[in-house]
Amino acid sequence: MGIIKLETKDKKRKVTNNRMTNKNLLSGNEAIARGAYEAGVKVGVGYPGTPSTEILENFTKYEDVVTEWSVNEKVAMEVGLGSALAGKRTLVTMKHVGLNVAADPLFTASYIGANAGMVVVVADDPDLHSSQNEQDSRHYARAAKVPMLEPSDSQEAKEFVRYACELSEGFDTPIFLRSVTRISHSKTVVAFEPKLNYEHDKGFEKENIKKHVMIPAFARQRHFVVEDRMKALEEFSNRIEINRIEKGKGEIAFVTAGLCYNYVKEVFPEADIFKIGMVYPLPMRNLLEFCKGYEKVYVVEELDPFIEDQLKARGANNIVGKEILPVTGEYSPELIYTAITGNKFKGMEVGIKPFARPPMLCPGCPHAQTFNAMNKLGLTVSGDIGCYTLGTLPPYSAMHACVDMGASIPFAQGIELAQGSEFKHDVVAVIGDSTFAHSGITGLINAAYNKRRILVIVLDNSTTAMTGMQPNPFNGSTITGEETVVIDYQKLAEAIGIKKDNFRTVTAYKEEIISETIQELLAKKELCLMVVTGPCLIYKRKKEKNNG
Ligand code: SF4
Repeated sequence: MGIIKLETKDKKRKVTNNRMTNKNLLSGNEAIARGAYEAGVKVGVGYPGTPSTEILENFTKYEDVVTEWSVNEKVAMEVGLGSALAGKRTLVTMKHVGLNVAADPLFTASYIGANAGMVVVVADDPDLHSSQNEQDSRHYARAAKVPMLEPSDSQEAKEFVRYACELSEGFDTPIFLRSVTRISHSKTVVAFEPKLNYEHDKGFEKENIKKHVMIPAFARQRHFVVEDRMKALEEFSNRIEINRIEKGKGEIAFVTAGLCYNYVKEVFPEADIFKIGMVYPLPMRNLLEFCKGYEKVYVVEELDPFIEDQLKARGANNIVGKEILPVTGEYSPELIYTAITGNKFKGMEVGIKPFARPPMLCPGCPHAQTFNAMNKLGLTVSGDIGCYTLGTLPPYSAMHACVDMGASIPFAQGIELAQGSEFKHDVVAVIGDSTFAHSGITGLINAAYNKRRILVIVLDNSTTAMTGMQPNPFNGSTITGEETVVIDYQKLAEAIGIKKDNFRTVTAYKEEIISETIQELLAKKELCLMVVTGPCLIYKRKKEKNNG
């Protein structure tokens, strides 16, 4: 990428990049963190979730920044909005399913704007490497009317953060930076640049209530501002270099973005390519003009036909996309080549197939005894997101539903509601400590308030194990390792009205005691909370190693 010229209504700015001062091999996540640092981002907030976790973990290593693991993505979005409105460039990170949690503030943040740059990084997970669904976050950009950039490698991931900050400020809007697992976790060469000593000229304008307080009368007016902004952004999208045409031999033409751009380049190096860096709003005028020049244009995009549908809706009738390319899973150079030519791509055979390892709890995992106990008792287990989801599979076979983070407790309540007086009291909700803090507590409050009669079991392993051992409000440290408050389960239970005698804490290593306690609490036929404590083995080893 050469020079990006950012022209907004009231000012012209230039972002000069690619001065190859040095070369570093970085993952997309590390590059986003570096990009935020170079752009003068001061605040980083998020919730861990594969494949986005390492962004904030890396960003926190830079000097002169403040970071936090928020209790969930909604809170991160709200903290991030406050920080951007108070005049600090801000990074908010999450994975795609986390964006569902953050959707509520996102849609209103779009109306309020940003002041200093507010970059929301969302990482999608095509092929579900570590997720409960395969959703395409680009739809959120469109639905919330928030622009979205999508890098193709680590260098772009770094550069796009700074560019996103500029755009966010120039158009007074939060902005998305979308990644996918292969961008987040693959390493490519990145040139570093010096940190920008950035200071926004405005802090929080408390008198500007028409922009910051979204009562209907003010929000109605802001909606017009948002619509005007989207028109201006679409026009702008036609004039920026991150949306560019790469001329080849003119024999075959593609429209593509993000990771897929690399695949197309690899198998069709001489193709004409319209490479999109801003996936929303699309540079529609230029795209339609480009498409006119060919009999057929292949739109290559993982997951949904997001670009394809918009092109077709605007009259492009020579588009070929999802009728030959799948809407599920990850793409590869070979898949694209085969779909388009009907031939197998030669040169891609490496002859080594990755070893398939079925996901399972680590040997000696503290959750094992609880799952063994629940299995032997023949319970119906409403589960949640985390390592303990693996209790579904043999040899435990002790989890029967898992929807989304925090859903275990309300789901169990739903079973009770459906069964009414027939409720067997053999239903337990199982959730981890981090997930309980994320969105389990509200479910427990709902159960107490509505007099539900379920047993909730928190498997507290002293960390957020599945995403790589992040701390949480039940573990006593912050993202930087600083000591902080630890939420007391018993006091929490009492505060929301769970009877003292309906609360128990047991060790994770004694199956017999776990089994007896479960039976005792289920026999009460009332709302009960049981906390099973035992540190994650990997976390324990890591901690011991760090302590020498
Ligand atoms: S990482 Fe920790 S909590 Fe997760 S399965 Fe392994 S031992 Fe259990």
